[in-house]
Amino acid sequence: MPFYRLKTGIVHVKGTRLPAPCCVRFCWPSSGKEQVCMAPSAYLCDGPNNANRSGTCDAPLCEVHARQIGPNRHLCPACHLSHSAAERQRSLFTSIV
Ligand SMILES: [Zn+2]
Ligand SMILES: [Zn+2]
Repeated sequence: MPFYRLKTGIVHVKGTRLPAPCCVRFCWPSSGKEQVCMAPSAYLCDGPNNANRSGTCDAPLCEVHARQIGPNRHLCPACHLSHSAAERQRSLFTSIV
């Protein structure tokens, strides 16, 4: 039974087979404090899991925080950052060659 942050506040939702709450931390414009999003997740991060090379990051992501990089492929902000850094490095490399 996960806790979700909805428009009304933190809500304890009863039930099974519910999506995990979004785990992205970000600064709320209203308070300026870093908080966990906790909106019901719609996606899981498809980024590589550095601790377990055969797995994926699997961070639960809501609509707002999922970064789509392809058909049915989404990344959390942390994975998207390293993904775009790798992309930049690759394009830099090919432009030199
Ligand atoms: Zn979120
Ligand atoms: Zn991730």
